[in-house]
Amino acid sequence: MISVEDARDRILSFFSRLEVERKPLLDALGQVLAEDIVAPFDIPPLDNTAMDGYAVRAADTTGATQSSPRTLRVVADLAAGYIMEAAIGPGEAVRIMTGAPMPPGSDAIVPFEETDEPLRGVNEAARKAQTVQVMKATHPAANVRFRAEDVNAGQTVIPAGRVIRASEVGVIASVGLSEVPVYRRPVVAILSTGDEVTEPGQPLLPGRIYDANAYGVAAMVRKFGAIPRLLGIARDTVEDLTAKIREGLDADMLVTSAGVSRGDFDVVKDVLAREGDVDFWTVRMKPGKPLAFGAFNAPGGRKVPHLGLPGNPVSSMVSFELFGRPAIFTMLGRTDWERPVIKAVTRDSVKNTDARRFYARCIVARGDDGRYYADLTGPQGSGILTSMSAANALTVIPEDLPEAFPGDEIDVMMLDWEHAP
Ligand code: AMP
Ligand code: MG
Repeated sequence: MISVEDARDRILSFFSRLEVERKPLLDALGQVLAEDIVAPFDIPPLDNTAMDGYAVRAADTTGATQSSPRTLRVVADLAAGYIMEAAIGPGEAVRIMTGAPMPPGSDAIVPFEETDEPLRGVNEAARKAQTVQVMKATHPAANVRFRAEDVNAGQTVIPAGRVIRASEVGVIASVGLSEVPVYRRPVVAILSTGDEVTEPGQPLLPGRIYDANAYGVAAMVRKFGAIPRLLGIARDTVEDLTAKIREGLDADMLVTSAGVSRGDFDVVKDVLAREGDVDFWTVRMKPGKPLAFGAFNAPGGRKVPHLGLPGNPVSSMVSFELFGRPAIFTMLGRTDWERPVIKAVTRDSVKNTDARRFYARCIVARGDDGRYYADLTGPQGSGILTSMSAANALTVIPEDLPEAFPGDEIDVMMLDWEHAP
Protein backbone atom coordinates (compact mmCIF):
# COMPACT_ATOMS: atom_id res chain seq x y z
CA MET A 1 0.00 0.00 0.00
CA ILE A 2 1.23 3.50 -0.78
CA SER A 3 0.42 6.68 1.13
CA VAL A 4 -1.92 9.37 -0.14
CA GLU A 5 1.06 11.70 -0.56
CA ASP A 6 3.07 9.13 -2.55
CA ALA A 7 0.11 8.48 -4.82
CA ARG A 8 -0.42 12.21 -5.34
CA ASP A 9 3.27 12.85 -6.07
CA ARG A 10 3.38 10.05 -8.62
CA ILE A 11 0.22 11.31 -10.26
CA LEU A 12 1.33 14.92 -10.37
CA SER A 13 4.60 13.97 -12.06
CA PHE A 14 2.48 13.24 -15.16
CA PHE A 15 0.99 16.71 -15.30
CA SER A 16 2.15 20.18 -16.14
CA ARG A 17 0.34 23.37 -16.95
CA LEU A 18 -1.28 23.59 -20.37
CA GLU A 19 -0.73 26.06 -23.22
CA VAL A 20 -1.58 29.72 -23.07
CA GLU A 21 -4.80 30.94 -24.68
CA ARG A 22 -6.31 34.41 -24.96
CA LYS A 23 -9.71 34.55 -23.35
CA PRO A 24 -12.44 37.19 -23.05
CA LEU A 25 -11.85 38.64 -19.60
CA LEU A 26 -14.96 37.34 -17.88
CA ASP A 27 -14.52 33.80 -19.22
CA ALA A 28 -11.07 33.65 -17.61
CA LEU A 29 -12.49 33.69 -14.08
CA GLY A 30 -10.66 31.01 -12.08
CA GLN A 31 -7.88 30.60 -14.65
CA VAL A 32 -4.27 31.59 -14.10
CA LEU A 33 -2.77 34.65 -15.69
CA ALA A 34 0.12 33.74 -18.03
CA GLU A 35 1.70 37.21 -18.39
CA ASP A 36 2.05 40.26 -16.15
CA ILE A 37 -0.68 42.84 -16.60
CA VAL A 38 1.02 46.23 -16.86
CA ALA A 39 -0.87 49.52 -16.57
CA PRO A 40 -0.36 51.62 -19.72
CA PHE A 41 -1.40 54.81 -17.90
CA ASP A 42 -1.81 56.25 -14.42
CA ILE A 43 -4.91 55.33 -12.43
CA PRO A 44 -6.62 57.62 -11.83
CA PRO A 45 -5.33 59.36 -14.95
CA LEU A 46 -6.05 62.85 -13.54
CA ASP A 47 -6.63 64.49 -10.15
CA ASN A 48 -10.38 64.27 -9.59
CA THR A 49 -13.05 64.81 -7.00
CA ALA A 50 -13.97 62.14 -4.46
CA MET A 51 -17.28 63.83 -3.62
CA ASP A 52 -20.17 65.68 -5.19
CA GLY A 53 -19.71 69.33 -4.27
CA TYR A 54 -17.86 72.47 -5.29
CA ALA A 55 -14.30 72.71 -6.58
CA VAL A 56 -12.75 75.76 -4.92
CA ARG A 57 -9.48 77.46 -4.09
CA ALA A 58 -9.10 76.45 -0.44
CA ALA A 59 -7.73 79.89 0.47
CA ASP A 60 -11.10 81.41 -0.51
CA THR A 61 -12.82 79.50 2.31
CA THR A 62 -10.55 80.60 5.17
CA GLY A 63 -12.62 81.43 8.25
CA ALA A 64 -15.90 80.18 6.76
CA THR A 65 -18.45 78.97 9.35
CA GLN A 66 -22.17 78.33 9.54
CA SER A 67 -22.77 81.85 10.85
CA SER A 68 -20.14 83.48 8.65
CA PRO A 69 -20.24 81.75 5.25
CA ARG A 70 -18.04 82.71 2.28
CA THR A 71 -19.92 83.43 -0.94
CA LEU A 72 -18.33 82.18 -4.18
CA ARG A 73 -19.37 82.70 -7.80
CA VAL A 74 -20.38 79.43 -9.56
CA VAL A 75 -18.76 79.57 -13.01
CA ALA A 76 -19.49 76.06 -14.32
CA ASP A 77 -21.20 72.74 -13.69
CA LEU A 78 -18.95 69.74 -14.34
CA ALA A 79 -20.07 66.11 -14.63
CA ALA A 80 -17.79 63.06 -14.49
CA GLY A 81 -16.35 62.35 -17.92
CA TYR A 82 -15.81 66.00 -18.88
CA ILE A 83 -12.78 68.23 -18.60
CA MET A 84 -12.65 71.96 -17.88
CA GLU A 85 -10.05 73.87 -19.89
CA ALA A 86 -10.33 77.31 -18.27
CA ALA A 87 -8.86 77.91 -14.83
CA ILE A 88 -11.00 79.22 -11.99
CA GLY A 89 -10.00 82.49 -10.44
CA PRO A 90 -10.20 83.91 -6.90
CA GLY A 91 -13.73 83.90 -5.52
CA GLU A 92 -14.89 81.31 -8.07
CA ALA A 93 -16.20 77.77 -7.70
CA VAL A 94 -17.28 74.94 -10.02
CA ARG A 95 -20.21 72.70 -9.17
CA ILE A 96 -18.71 69.23 -9.66
CA MET A 97 -19.73 65.55 -9.56
CA THR A 98 -17.70 62.62 -8.14
CA GLY A 99 -15.02 61.46 -10.55
CA ALA A 100 -14.86 64.67 -12.59
CA PRO A 101 -11.29 65.95 -13.08
CA MET A 102 -10.32 68.92 -10.90
CA PRO A 103 -10.77 72.20 -12.79
CA PRO A 104 -7.45 74.03 -13.26
CA GLY A 105 -6.91 76.52 -10.44
CA SER A 106 -8.99 74.62 -7.88
CA ASP A 107 -7.30 72.68 -5.09
CA ALA A 108 -10.10 71.38 -2.83
CA ILE A 109 -13.63 70.07 -2.92
CA VAL A 110 -16.30 71.36 -0.55
CA PRO A 111 -19.04 68.70 -0.31
CA PHE A 112 -22.63 69.86 -0.86
CA GLU A 113 -23.34 69.23 2.84
CA GLU A 114 -20.92 72.03 3.77
CA THR A 115 -22.63 74.57 1.52
CA ASP A 116 -26.04 76.21 1.43
CA GLU A 117 -27.08 74.00 -1.49
CA PRO A 118 -29.12 71.51 0.60
CA LEU A 119 -30.97 74.48 2.15
CA ARG A 120 -32.01 75.78 -1.25
CA GLY A 121 -34.57 73.04 -1.95
CA VAL A 122 -34.64 70.16 -4.31
CA ASN A 123 -35.71 71.62 -7.63
CA GLU A 124 -33.12 71.92 -10.35
CA ALA A 125 -33.16 75.73 -10.62
CA ALA A 126 -32.77 76.21 -6.86
CA ARG A 127 -29.89 73.80 -6.65
CA LYS A 128 -27.98 75.41 -9.50
CA ALA A 129 -27.66 78.97 -8.25
CA GLN A 130 -25.26 81.66 -9.50
CA THR A 131 -23.51 81.71 -6.15
CA VAL A 132 -22.79 79.25 -3.38
CA GLN A 133 -22.25 79.86 0.32
CA VAL A 134 -19.46 77.79 1.83
CA MET A 135 -20.16 77.18 5.51
CA LYS A 136 -16.98 75.44 6.56
CA ALA A 137 -13.32 76.24 5.86
CA THR A 138 -11.49 73.65 3.81
CA HIS A 139 -7.83 72.99 3.06
CA PRO A 140 -5.86 72.12 -0.07
CA ALA A 141 -6.30 68.49 -1.18
CA ALA A 142 -9.53 68.02 0.77
CA ASN A 143 -11.67 65.35 -0.97
CA VAL A 144 -9.31 65.17 -3.93
CA ARG A 145 -8.22 61.84 -5.43
CA PHE A 146 -4.79 62.30 -6.92
CA ARG A 147 -3.53 61.16 -10.26
CA ALA A 148 -1.77 57.76 -9.98
CA GLU A 149 -2.73 57.31 -6.32
CA ASP A 150 -3.79 53.74 -7.17
CA VAL A 151 -1.46 52.76 -10.02
CA ASN A 152 1.50 54.32 -11.85
CA ALA A 153 1.90 53.94 -15.60
CA GLY A 154 4.23 50.99 -16.26
CA GLN A 155 3.40 49.30 -12.96
CA THR A 156 2.49 45.59 -12.88
CA VAL A 157 -1.03 45.51 -11.50
CA ILE A 158 -1.43 41.71 -11.58
CA PRO A 159 1.61 39.44 -11.84
CA ALA A 160 1.70 36.33 -14.02
CA GLY A 161 0.73 33.25 -12.05
CA ARG A 162 -2.12 34.92 -10.18
CA VAL A 163 -5.51 33.20 -10.14
CA ILE A 164 -8.12 35.48 -11.69
CA ARG A 165 -10.85 36.19 -9.16
CA ALA A 166 -13.52 38.88 -9.33
CA SER A 167 -11.07 41.49 -8.02
CA GLU A 168 -8.54 40.66 -10.73
CA VAL A 169 -11.25 40.88 -13.40
CA GLY A 170 -12.02 44.38 -12.11
CA VAL A 171 -8.38 45.49 -12.06
CA ILE A 172 -7.69 44.09 -15.53
CA ALA A 173 -10.76 45.84 -16.91
CA SER A 174 -9.60 49.07 -15.26
CA VAL A 175 -6.46 49.09 -17.40
CA GLY A 176 -8.60 48.70 -20.49
CA LEU A 177 -8.06 45.04 -21.43
CA SER A 178 -10.95 42.95 -22.73
CA GLU A 179 -8.89 39.79 -23.24
CA VAL A 180 -6.28 38.05 -21.09
CA PRO A 181 -3.59 35.42 -21.64
CA VAL A 182 -4.30 32.43 -19.38
CA TYR A 183 -3.41 28.75 -19.21
CA ARG A 184 -6.05 26.74 -21.00
CA ARG A 185 -8.68 24.85 -19.06
CA PRO A 186 -8.13 21.08 -19.24
CA VAL A 187 -10.73 18.82 -20.82
CA VAL A 188 -11.43 15.82 -18.60
CA ALA A 189 -13.11 12.83 -20.26
CA ILE A 190 -15.19 10.75 -17.86
CA LEU A 191 -16.20 7.15 -18.43
CA SER A 192 -18.31 4.96 -16.18
CA THR A 193 -17.93 1.21 -16.46
CA GLY A 194 -20.15 -1.64 -15.42
CA ASP A 195 -23.05 -3.66 -16.84
CA GLU A 196 -25.23 -2.55 -13.94
CA VAL A 197 -24.73 1.17 -14.49
CA THR A 198 -27.64 3.06 -16.09
CA GLU A 199 -27.86 6.59 -17.47
CA PRO A 200 -30.10 8.85 -15.32
CA GLY A 201 -33.34 9.58 -17.13
CA GLN A 202 -33.55 6.01 -18.48
CA PRO A 203 -35.78 3.30 -16.95
CA LEU A 204 -34.05 1.26 -14.28
CA LEU A 205 -34.07 -2.51 -14.82
CA PRO A 206 -34.01 -4.86 -11.82
CA GLY A 207 -30.52 -5.17 -10.35
CA ARG A 208 -29.27 -2.02 -12.02
CA ILE A 209 -28.16 1.31 -10.50
CA TYR A 210 -27.97 4.81 -11.86
CA ASP A 211 -24.66 6.37 -12.79
CA ALA A 212 -23.86 8.63 -9.83
CA ASN A 213 -20.11 8.67 -10.39
CA ALA A 214 -19.88 10.25 -13.82
CA TYR A 215 -22.14 13.11 -12.76
CA GLY A 216 -20.61 13.63 -9.34
CA VAL A 217 -17.11 13.65 -10.80
CA ALA A 218 -18.11 15.84 -13.76
CA ALA A 219 -19.52 18.38 -11.33
CA MET A 220 -16.23 18.38 -9.42
CA VAL A 221 -14.31 18.76 -12.68
CA ARG A 222 -16.33 21.83 -13.55
CA LYS A 223 -16.12 23.27 -10.03
CA PHE A 224 -12.33 22.85 -10.06
CA GLY A 225 -12.12 24.86 -13.29
CA ALA A 226 -11.85 22.18 -15.98
CA ILE A 227 -14.23 21.10 -18.74
CA PRO A 228 -15.95 17.74 -18.22
CA ARG A 229 -16.71 15.55 -21.22
CA LEU A 230 -19.03 12.64 -20.46
CA LEU A 231 -18.22 9.53 -22.49
CA GLY A 232 -21.18 7.57 -21.17
CA ILE A 233 -21.14 4.07 -19.74
CA ALA A 234 -18.98 1.19 -20.99
CA ARG A 235 -20.30 -2.34 -20.68
CA ASP A 236 -17.90 -4.85 -19.17
CA THR A 237 -16.76 -6.09 -22.58
CA VAL A 238 -13.39 -5.61 -24.23
CA GLU A 239 -15.00 -4.13 -27.36
CA ASP A 240 -17.18 -1.55 -25.65
CA LEU A 241 -14.57 -0.50 -23.15
CA THR A 242 -11.88 -0.15 -25.82
CA ALA A 243 -14.15 1.88 -28.08
CA LYS A 244 -15.28 4.25 -25.32
CA ILE A 245 -11.77 4.80 -24.01
CA ARG A 246 -10.59 5.68 -27.52
CA GLU A 247 -13.30 8.33 -27.73
CA GLY A 248 -11.71 10.03 -24.75
CA LEU A 249 -8.15 10.11 -25.99
CA ASP A 250 -8.20 13.69 -27.24
CA ALA A 251 -8.86 14.89 -23.68
CA ASP A 252 -6.14 16.12 -21.33
CA MET A 253 -7.05 13.49 -18.79
CA LEU A 254 -9.23 10.40 -18.77
CA VAL A 255 -11.16 9.41 -15.66
CA THR A 256 -12.86 6.05 -15.37
CA SER A 257 -14.89 4.75 -12.50
CA ALA A 258 -15.20 1.20 -11.21
CA GLY A 259 -13.49 -1.97 -12.31
CA VAL A 260 -10.34 -1.40 -10.27
CA SER A 261 -11.18 -3.45 -7.22
CA ARG A 262 -10.23 -7.06 -6.83
CA GLY A 263 -13.50 -8.81 -7.62
CA ASP A 264 -13.97 -7.23 -10.99
CA PHE A 265 -14.23 -8.67 -14.44
CA ASP A 266 -10.73 -8.88 -15.78
CA VAL A 267 -11.69 -7.20 -19.03
CA VAL A 268 -11.29 -3.79 -17.46
CA LYS A 269 -7.76 -4.48 -16.40
CA ASP A 270 -6.97 -6.21 -19.73
CA VAL A 271 -8.13 -3.24 -21.72
CA LEU A 272 -6.35 -0.76 -19.50
CA ALA A 273 -3.13 -2.75 -19.84
CA ARG A 274 -3.44 -3.09 -23.61
CA GLU A 275 -4.28 0.51 -24.40
CA GLY A 276 -1.66 2.03 -22.15
CA ASP A 277 0.51 1.63 -19.10
CA VAL A 278 -1.74 1.52 -16.11
CA ASP A 279 -0.75 0.55 -12.59
CA PHE A 280 -3.16 -0.66 -9.99
CA TRP A 281 -2.46 0.75 -6.59
CA THR A 282 -3.80 0.28 -3.16
CA VAL A 283 -3.69 3.59 -1.36
CA ARG A 284 -3.61 3.72 2.41
CA MET A 285 -6.87 5.60 2.71
CA LYS A 286 -10.51 5.04 3.54
CA PRO A 287 -12.72 5.31 1.60
CA GLY A 288 -11.08 4.55 -1.72
CA LYS A 289 -8.32 1.99 -1.31
CA PRO A 290 -8.18 0.74 -4.93
CA LEU A 291 -6.96 3.23 -7.51
CA ALA A 292 -5.60 2.86 -11.01
CA PHE A 293 -3.24 5.34 -12.54
CA GLY A 294 -1.27 5.44 -15.74
CA ALA A 295 -1.24 6.80 -19.25
CA PHE A 296 -2.99 5.78 -22.44
CA ASN A 297 -1.33 5.80 -25.82
CA ALA A 298 -3.18 8.27 -28.01
CA PRO A 299 -2.72 8.90 -31.74
CA GLY A 300 0.38 10.92 -32.56
CA GLY A 301 2.42 9.36 -29.76
CA ARG A 302 0.60 11.44 -27.16
CA LYS A 303 0.09 10.03 -23.68
CA VAL A 304 -3.16 10.72 -21.90
CA PRO A 305 -3.01 10.43 -18.12
CA HIS A 306 -5.65 8.09 -16.75
CA LEU A 307 -7.13 8.12 -13.27
CA GLY A 308 -9.13 4.98 -12.51
CA LEU A 309 -11.45 5.72 -9.63
CA PRO A 310 -13.08 3.09 -7.46
CA GLY A 311 -16.72 2.27 -8.22
CA ASN A 312 -18.24 3.03 -4.86
CA PRO A 313 -19.59 6.54 -5.19
CA VAL A 314 -18.13 7.99 -1.99
CA SER A 315 -14.75 6.44 -2.78
CA SER A 316 -14.91 7.81 -6.26
CA MET A 317 -15.63 11.38 -5.09
CA VAL A 318 -13.10 11.35 -2.25
CA SER A 319 -10.42 9.90 -4.55
CA PHE A 320 -11.16 12.53 -7.17
CA GLU A 321 -10.99 15.22 -4.50
CA LEU A 322 -7.55 14.01 -3.35
CA PHE A 323 -6.01 13.16 -6.75
CA GLY A 324 -8.13 14.68 -9.51
CA ARG A 325 -8.24 18.16 -8.03
CA PRO A 326 -4.45 18.57 -7.77
CA ALA A 327 -4.10 17.23 -11.33
CA ILE A 328 -6.60 19.77 -12.69
CA PHE A 329 -5.06 22.61 -10.71
CA THR A 330 -1.60 21.69 -12.00
CA MET A 331 -2.83 21.80 -15.60
CA LEU A 332 -4.44 25.16 -14.89
CA GLY A 333 -1.10 26.44 -13.57
CA ARG A 334 -2.38 26.57 -9.99
CA THR A 335 -0.37 25.40 -7.01
CA ASP A 336 -3.00 26.18 -4.38
CA TRP A 337 -4.81 22.86 -4.55
CA GLU A 338 -4.32 22.03 -0.89
CA ARG A 339 -7.64 22.36 0.96
CA PRO A 340 -7.59 24.16 4.29
CA VAL A 341 -7.07 21.66 7.13
CA ILE A 342 -8.15 23.02 10.50
CA LYS A 343 -8.49 21.71 14.04
CA ALA A 344 -11.96 20.77 15.22
CA VAL A 345 -13.26 19.05 18.32
CA THR A 346 -14.99 15.81 17.39
CA ARG A 347 -18.28 15.20 19.13
CA ASP A 348 -18.30 11.59 17.94
CA SER A 349 -16.01 8.65 18.38
CA VAL A 350 -14.24 8.02 15.07
CA LYS A 351 -12.97 4.44 14.85
CA ASN A 352 -10.14 3.71 12.45
CA THR A 353 -9.50 -0.01 12.71
CA ASP A 354 -7.55 -0.88 9.56
CA ALA A 355 -4.57 1.48 9.74
CA ARG A 356 -5.54 3.64 6.77
CA ARG A 357 -6.06 7.39 6.72
CA PHE A 358 -9.73 7.89 7.43
CA TYR A 359 -11.55 10.61 5.55
CA ALA A 360 -14.90 10.38 7.31
CA ARG A 361 -17.66 12.70 6.15
CA CYS A 362 -18.47 15.31 8.75
CA ILE A 363 -20.14 18.62 9.36
CA VAL A 364 -17.88 21.29 10.77
CA ALA A 365 -19.36 24.35 12.40
CA ARG A 366 -18.21 26.97 14.86
CA GLY A 367 -19.52 26.57 18.39
CA ASP A 368 -20.63 29.40 20.68
CA ASP A 369 -17.19 29.20 22.34
CA GLY A 370 -15.53 30.14 19.03
CA ARG A 371 -14.01 26.68 18.48
CA TYR A 372 -14.81 24.45 15.55
CA TYR A 373 -16.73 21.24 16.16
CA ALA A 374 -17.08 18.19 13.91
CA ASP A 375 -20.06 15.84 13.80
CA LEU A 376 -20.00 12.72 11.65
CA THR A 377 -22.76 12.59 9.06
CA GLY A 378 -23.85 9.11 10.18
CA PRO A 379 -23.00 5.74 8.62
CA GLN A 380 -19.73 5.98 6.72
CA GLY A 381 -20.08 3.15 4.19
CA SER A 382 -18.47 4.01 0.87
CA GLY A 383 -21.76 3.39 -0.92
CA ILE A 384 -23.63 5.94 1.20
CA LEU A 385 -23.44 8.88 -1.16
CA THR A 386 -25.90 11.01 0.81
CA SER A 387 -23.14 11.22 3.45
CA MET A 388 -21.16 13.36 0.97
CA SER A 389 -24.14 15.58 0.43
CA ALA A 390 -24.62 15.98 4.18
CA ALA A 391 -20.97 16.93 4.76
CA ASN A 392 -18.91 20.08 4.38
CA ALA A 393 -15.63 18.50 5.49
CA LEU A 394 -13.66 15.27 5.79
CA THR A 395 -11.88 14.12 8.92
CA VAL A 396 -8.17 13.44 8.51
CA ILE A 397 -7.62 10.62 10.99
CA PRO A 398 -4.00 9.46 10.78
CA GLU A 399 -3.19 5.90 9.70
CA ASP A 400 -1.75 5.06 13.14
CA LEU A 401 -4.62 6.40 15.24
CA PRO A 402 -7.12 3.61 16.00
CA GLU A 403 -9.75 5.90 17.50
CA ALA A 404 -10.48 9.55 18.07
CA PHE A 405 -12.67 10.04 21.12
CA PRO A 406 -15.42 12.57 21.70
CA GLY A 407 -13.75 15.80 22.87
CA ASP A 408 -10.49 15.07 21.01
CA GLU A 409 -9.16 17.71 18.69
CA ILE A 410 -8.79 16.29 15.19
CA ASP A 411 -7.78 17.59 11.76
CA VAL A 412 -10.59 18.24 9.32
CA MET A 413 -10.23 19.11 5.65
CA MET A 414 -12.72 21.78 4.66
CA LEU A 415 -14.45 21.01 1.37
CA ASP A 416 -16.95 23.78 1.55
CA TRP A 417 -16.77 26.84 3.78
CA GLU A 418 -19.84 28.53 2.39
CA HIS A 419 -22.21 25.69 2.75
CA ALA A 420 -22.84 23.91 6.01
CA PRO A 421 -25.80 21.59 5.27
P1 AMP B 1 -16.57 -2.07 -8.81
O1 AMP B 1 -15.40 -1.16 -8.60
O2 AMP B 1 -16.89 -2.24 -10.25
O3 AMP B 1 -16.43 -3.34 -8.07
O4 AMP B 1 -17.81 -1.30 -8.19
C1 AMP B 1 -17.93 -1.10 -6.81
C2 AMP B 1 -19.34 -0.63 -6.47
O5 AMP B 1 -19.58 0.63 -7.05
C3 AMP B 1 -20.42 -1.55 -7.00
O6 AMP B 1 -21.43 -1.63 -6.03
C4 AMP B 1 -20.90 -0.83 -8.21
O7 AMP B 1 -22.23 -1.17 -8.54
C5 AMP B 1 -20.79 0.61 -7.79
N1 AMP B 1 -20.67 1.50 -8.95
C6 AMP B 1 -19.88 1.28 -10.01
N2 AMP B 1 -20.01 2.28 -10.90
C7 AMP B 1 -20.90 3.14 -10.40
C8 AMP B 1 -21.44 4.39 -10.86
N3 AMP B 1 -21.06 4.90 -12.00
N4 AMP B 1 -22.33 5.01 -10.07
C9 AMP B 1 -22.69 4.48 -8.88
N5 AMP B 1 -22.20 3.34 -8.39
C10 AMP B 1 -21.32 2.66 -9.13
MG1 MG C 1 -18.00 -3.26 -11.70
